[in-house]
Amino acid sequence: ADGAPADRALVAHLGMSGQLLVEKRSEPDEVHLRARFRFTDGGRELRFVDQRTFGGLAVEETTGDALPPRLAHIAIDPLDPGFDEGAFTVALRRRRTEVKRALLDQTLIGGVGNIYADESLWRARLHGTRPTDKLTRPQVTALLEGIRDVLGESLAQGGTSFDSLYVDVNGQSGYFSRHLAVYGQEDRPCPRCGTAVVREQFMNRSSYSCPQCQPRPRGRRA
Ligand SMILES: [Zn+2]
Repeated sequence: ADGAPADRALVAHLGMSGQLLVEKRSEPDEVHLRARFRFTDGGRELRFVDQRTFGGLAVEETTGDALPPRLAHIAIDPLDPGFDEGAFTVALRRRRTEVKRALLDQTLIGGVGNIYADESLWRARLHGTRPTDKLTRPQVTALLEGIRDVLGESLAQGGTSFDSLYVDVNGQSGYFSRHLAVYGQEDRPCPRCGTAVVREQFMNRSSYSCPQCQPRPRGRRA
């Protein structure tokens, strides 16, 4: 309403290695503790820890339930009850790009990084270079199921929905070592069919897939 003070939101950008931790006050400070928040209830405190310095914290004004403007462009992740599958399907097809590129586009879908994209595509039996405008509705549904499964399993194991954060700077992760079907598994057997997993260049990173379960789309280079 007019004249009412704007709501404020604490916005954390975790960068590549930032973490928000809820801890007892008696816990010793982390080496890379950057900020500490204490609450009036005298209970646990919130700490922002970042081994590098790419992350950051900011207080931003917002209005009611709206996200701060800086975050409004980030699409919600598919575990959110507000995720609109029909709208996502339409937007995905309209994007006219390759499906893996679309999955990494935070304006289209939130929470999916390189690792989860590869794992989700494997579950949906789709190669990452498939054109989005040719995907059928059942394929999009299978893809979303794959994403939800991967995100859900990671969260169940204490991970975050953002995989770039889940694998720490040393590459250590329980999820990484125990549950990845294709990511980082070059030359290992596909858990579904036994075919050797292949690694391909993707932008300046790698994509992993099973050549049997996830054939390249026709008309593309072999
Ligand atoms: Zn396979």
